Amino acid sequence: MESRWSDAEAHDAVARWGAAPNSNADLALRVYTSRLIGSDPRLVLHGGGNTSVKTRLRDDTGAEIEVICVKGSGSDLADLGPRDLPAVRLASLGALRALPALSDEAMVNAARVRLLDASAPNPSVELLLHAFLPGTSIDHSHADAILALVDQPDAERLCHAVFGDDLAVVPYVMPGFALAKLAAEVAEAHPKAHGLLLLQHGLFTWGDTAQAAYERHIAAVARAMAFISAHPATPPAPRRAHVDWPSLAPLLRGALGDVGGPWILRLRTGDTLRAFVDAPDLPDKALRGPATPDHVIRTKALPWIVDPTALAPDLAAGIAASLAHYRSSYQT
Ligand code: ZN
Repeated sequence: MESRWSDAEAHDAVARWGAAPNSNADLALRVYTSRLIGSDPRLVLHGGGNTSVKTRLRDDTGAEIEVICVKGSGSDLADLGPRDLPAVRLASLGALRALPALSDEAMVNAARVRLLDASAPNPSVELLLHAFLPGTSIDHSHADAILALVDQPDAERLCHAVFGDDLAVVPYVMPGFALAKLAAEVAEAHPKAHGLLLLQHGLFTWGDTAQAAYERHIAAVARAMAFISAHPATPPAPRRAHVDWPSLAPLLRGALGDVGGPWILRLRTGDTLRAFVDAPDLPDKALRGPATPDHVIRTKALPWIVDPTALAPDLAAGIAASLAHYRSSYQT
């Protein structure tokens, strides 16, 4: 994984977005690198991740004030524009850190009452985390390679071994006000760090410029990817018997047809997928729930696992029964 930053594209971005209402060059470059991150599925899936920039914009009196522009809820990093990074007055946002607690509803309200544009979308739920962190530009993702490290039982030791002092480690806390405060404390306790690894959550990197934050993000994910490929997890499992897809697909589609449709089925396979689905402990691994909120959007909570070899001899009836069981267990 390499940086896709281009000086020429950055220049074009400033020309394209920097002059929009309530925008400037900082915001334009923030849009540019957000799109770079959002268009790489190794970093974020649709709707996932968020970015921010602390800058100065004019309010309705014409006065220039400090704001933080952070991705709005519901937008996608891959195609956002300046309006999708609503500006929030920064001055009194930092003072919220002194509060002992703040509910999710109060955090949403705190963001909305400080918006420069009252019609702007709700800023990301991770607004306060961005606001409390030291960087000017901040990038946040739930990149797969990072999760492969921070989801391990000995993640803290592993993260120190891979990233040294460059990234500080934040223990798991449910996203919300408590996490925003803890992340800021960890960042302050590690002044050499230019990013955070949030255990069982994801990666934050920051810098004085959009380019610095972005390139540190890419470098961190590249380091995680290199470590993973140098330490393969488990030897490939013995393969199950091959199932003839052209004869299986109509049976699956027939069973699914009883519960809606029409359905288009597509077979995806390959060494990695086969190693996963052929493993004896597939149900244990596959039914633990998705690794990140990004995956919930794309894959939903639980997969339907069908083992045709176990459903013989009446494969059609077996598939129908398996689907009925899946549906009832999903709904409970
Ligand atoms: Zn997150």
